[in-house]
Amino acid sequence: MNFAELGLKSPLLEAITAAGYTEPTAVQLEAIPAALAGSDLLVSSHTGSGKTAAFMLPALQRLGTQPGARGKGPRVLVLTPTRELALQINRAALDYGKGVRNLRTAALVGGSSYAHQLRSLERPVDIAVATPGRLIDHLERGRIDLSRVEILVLDEADRMLDMGFLEDVENIVGRTPETRQTMMFSATLDGVVGNLARRLTRDARRIEVVTSEQQHANVEQIVLYADDLSHKNKLLDALLRNPDMQQCVVFAATKMAADQIAVQLEESGFRAASLHGDMHQGQRNRTLQGMREGRTQVLVATDVAARGIDVAGISHVINFDSPRQAEDYVHRIGRTGRAGRTGTAVTLMNHHERHRTRDIERYTGQPLRIETIAGLEPRRRPTKPSFGAPSGPRGADPRRGAPGGPRGGYAGRAAHGSHAGASAHSGAHAGAGPAPAADSRGPRSGPGQGYTARPRSR
Ligand code: AMP
Repeated sequence: MNFAELGLKSPLLEAITAAGYTEPTAVQLEAIPAALAGSDLLVSSHTGSGKTAAFMLPALQRLGTQPGARGKGPRVLVLTPTRELALQINRAALDYGKGVRNLRTAALVGGSSYAHQLRSLERPVDIAVATPGRLIDHLERGRIDLSRVEILVLDEADRMLDMGFLEDVENIVGRTPETRQTMMFSATLDGVVGNLARRLTRDARRIEVVTSEQQHANVEQIVLYADDLSHKNKLLDALLRNPDMQQCVVFAATKMAADQIAVQLEESGFRAASLHGDMHQGQRNRTLQGMREGRTQVLVATDVAARGIDVAGISHVINFDSPRQAEDYVHRIGRTGRAGRTGTAVTLMNHHERHRTRDIERYTGQPLRIETIAGLEPRRRPTKPSFGAPSGPRGADPRRGAPGGPRGGYAGRAAHGSHAGASAHSGAHAGAGPAPAADSRGPRSGPGQGYTARPRSR
């Protein structure tokens, strides 16, 4: 899913591209279409999840496409607990809105000169980003009027309440029109925040973004680089002979590929089956039943067919073909590590797909470890772009390099691949070539046990 599919239009799409965003984050995926449709939103998400763009992009789209009422007061009002956050949001508004004609914003925050803020309020304002205390000051002096507010955003609402702003917030909201759209963002939506939310919103859509990081913390994520198809086949074979392997879902890009791989694996002695959309429901059910009962060891599936598979015995997911989108990646790896267990997800990546590693890490907020299997190392030394590298607008974001490590959501660490795989893997398969077909006791008793899961580095 890309930003255009969420309903955003030029010039916002251009600004998004200029910011270096290739895919919406989880909170953006949920919140943007709902916000564009005019719904009130209650969103529990954390800083770093991409929430600023989640509310600002729809707000800007409205400003750019619908005329406002007469007057000078802001059409979009964002309340935030701190000055820093307000300034940051104001900058984001200007960045994302640089193609919106005559956009005017005002940051109304404590600790900075009144004179400048008063000047910015002399002419009509589209977006005001304010801390509650300073906004109350301006309201009481009659310097700002909130009757034009169409969209009200309460950002980090829980923090605002913690800082004692409840009364100010209620006072401010009371001066905005009842017809407004309200979006509330908060790490938690329980207790006092929940009460406030109920009072300030109408039929709000509730969005709870459990970060992918939280979701998949129990899944070890590995990348193996492959030179070509034959190399991929050998890697797959070696992986499936790993003694830790219980049951596995292998993802293929197409139905045909899924069938071919399944046949090939059966010929090599694995209990394999394919699962894809061309199969009748009855066949699909039987295949899944085989997986649940442990008769099938390897399920070769396409993305759509595998959604929702919930089999606790799936210890591994292998992306034979790397997923086209980070979102698919998350769905795929979610097939393992279920029912409180741990799991391993291995992505076989062609060298030219290297950039996908970074896209995935950004989306999940988790590092992918680059590994090799002894005897099956790629001809080219696998590398990947480092997160901190100043490569375009994202790399240039000063907040990304903040001391103390990555911040929240997708500020994953520069996970330099471990190329020391050779020392961790036994030397089976040296000289490459698929391992001989397994004997009747099943493939795991075969000689090839090249890949050994390494201890987690996280
Ligand atoms: P926020 O949660 O709004 O503070 O955003 C955290 C960081 O993520 C900011 O540096 C944004 O520039 C960045 N960001 C927001 N949306 C995306 C996206 N879709 N892809 C990559 N980075 C993003």
